[in-house]
Amino acid sequence: MTAVHLVILGRQGSGKGTQAARLVELYRPIHVSTGDMLRAAVAAGTELGLQARALIDAGDLVGDDLINGIVSERLAQPDVAENGFLLDGYPRTPDQAAAMEVFLVEAGTPLDAAVNLDVPVDEVTARMLARGRADDTEEAIRRRLALYESETAPLLAWFADRGLLDVVDGLGDVDVVFGRLADVIDGRMSVADAS
Ligand code: AMP
Repeated sequence: MTAVHLVILGRQGSGKGTQAARLVELYRPIHVSTGDMLRAAVAAGTELGLQARALIDAGDLVGDDLINGIVSERLAQPDVAENGFLLDGYPRTPDQAAAMEVFLVEAGTPLDAAVNLDVPVDEVTARMLARGRADDTEEAIRRRLALYESETAPLLAWFADRGLLDVVDGLGDVDVVFGRLADVIDGRMSVADAS
């Protein structure tokens, strides 16, 4: 199977985590989730974890240089060259997108697509309050959503300008949403195979 090179975008609470796990099962890319990497570092008590912990708890973003460093290191591993990747939670700011563009050129692995799982703000707020994760206080949720609109939403235009953006309706049954995602990815891959 051809390796896929994907970004999944979506507000926190859009079902991105669930859908990313299913995409990994189907297409077998390396799942590069910056949120998971940071939570693992916090749990392990590493230097990175110590730096990131307060920012994560407040719903703030960890600094671009730190995040770009951990992602570029991960993308340089041989398993990524072989299996492709699914970037999840990254890029989250215009500076991260610019850095990503450079790593991908260096690695010789251009993106196939950036898929935005589109779920309205009211719906994601209700879902996050219901899931009750440690960093899901009302204040932190508000902060994360505000940062999404100011920092991450502009990336949709950035990807669209490069012809890479696909928007998928994230409302509805999990299997139905997954089918929509797989359809747009299969469409991208068949174009890539034919060229
Ligand atoms: P997530 O699981 O993607 O919602 O990430 C959880 C938290 O980790 C976020 O609220 C941020 O504090 C931090 N984080 C994850 N990815 C990034 C990123 N690309 N840039 C900055 N901070 C991030």
